[in-house]
Amino acid sequence: LNRHHGGVKIQPDRLLADIEALAAIGDTGDGGNCRLALTDEDAGGRELVVGWMRDLGLDVRVDRIGNVVATRAGAESTGAGNDAAPVMTGSHIDTVGTGGRYDGTLGVLAGLEVVRALDDAGIRTRRPVAVAFFTDEEGSRFAPDMLGSLVYAGGMPLEDALDIVAIDGAVLGTELERIGWTGDAAVPGPAPHAYVELHIEQGPVLEEAGVTIGAVTGVQGISWQELTLTGQANHAGTTPMRLRRDPAYVAAQTIGFVRRLATDLGGHQVGTVGRLDLHPDLVNVVAARATLTVDLRNTDEAVLAEAERRLRGHVAALASAEGCEGAWRRLARFQPVAFDPAVIDLVESTAERLGHSVMRLPSGAGHDAQMLARVCPTGMVFVPSRAGVSHNPAEFTEPEHLAAGTEVLAEVLTELAGVVE
Ligand SMILES: [Zn+2]
Repeated sequence: LNRHHGGVKIQPDRLLADIEALAAIGDTGDGGNCRLALTDEDAGGRELVVGWMRDLGLDVRVDRIGNVVATRAGAESTGAGNDAAPVMTGSHIDTVGTGGRYDGTLGVLAGLEVVRALDDAGIRTRRPVAVAFFTDEEGSRFAPDMLGSLVYAGGMPLEDALDIVAIDGAVLGTELERIGWTGDAAVPGPAPHAYVELHIEQGPVLEEAGVTIGAVTGVQGISWQELTLTGQANHAGTTPMRLRRDPAYVAAQTIGFVRRLATDLGGHQVGTVGRLDLHPDLVNVVAARATLTVDLRNTDEAVLAEAERRLRGHVAALASAEGCEGAWRRLARFQPVAFDPAVIDLVESTAERLGHSVMRLPSGAGHDAQMLARVCPTGMVFVPSRAGVSHNPAEFTEPEHLAAGTEVLAEVLTELAGVVE
């Protein structure tokens, strides 16, 4: 292997200036950002970033779901449509409604800084280097999340994706057309040679350990389910306790069970009831219906499946004891993803070589990288999030950590792309 030794000098000030400029679009006035997928703010962010891509002389392609891939040619490019597959990096520039300025944007803008640094150093890579941003990673407006990368990787047909209806009633394909970002590149897109994404951790692990770089081992599996419990509405004063069929009571027991389930299973198991609606939602009426969501996640598919099985079994018993009906609806289910061992090793050894502290850890959040992992060797680089806070205007990563992550990304991409000496 022809190893490349640290010739790519990134300039953190340029990266910080880009983060600042992008954060001005959809600025929520409290340090945060709102660029929900396929809104005018998303379009504004897209124009800015694609302008920078063109300024760098990259070949910019937009695909039919609005993903953008900007490519720096490699020495092995022939220009005849049979170029070597690129080494790809990237992430997303859409945000949640109360987003911060680093989630997603870091991975895209750091990719552009790597391109600048390669240009500065006059480095020609054998393979092309591509910087991508994927449509609707957050899924806040159009579910599921990681939609653009899912379509890119062939995990959902384009037609199905274009038909998705937003929480505000808009249709994805119509919105994509409206903001002018329906491209003509085909999906599924071509498989890269490898994909490596830099992202903020969005959790507390690196900061608590005092470590700068995370070599991400994979992404935990996600199970989202909605439970509707139906009982009988009745008078809160006159209905004896023994005659009640109270779905609110079953919902409360379910919430308690989800907490105990996660604690009992231990390890990386987490469980959350994030939504609860009672109907008719009145002070003096035993509820007729309760609707709640259960979010279960684990890095281990067998344990995650066991958690789902125990949850359903226990809720069935609770509901029947109360004389209620329970109905489940699945909202999302992604299996855990293990990243490529060679890419994980490369991230770890590169961080060590550059003198940064490094540890291996799984990702608690979903990322575009988990979709790309379906089609090519994939890995991720994490940098610390202050207090583990994300999806919040207070989201913050120290500039020196942003720089360290970008340095590691630059070396890893260069190594994977190969340098023409
Ligand atoms: Zn993200």
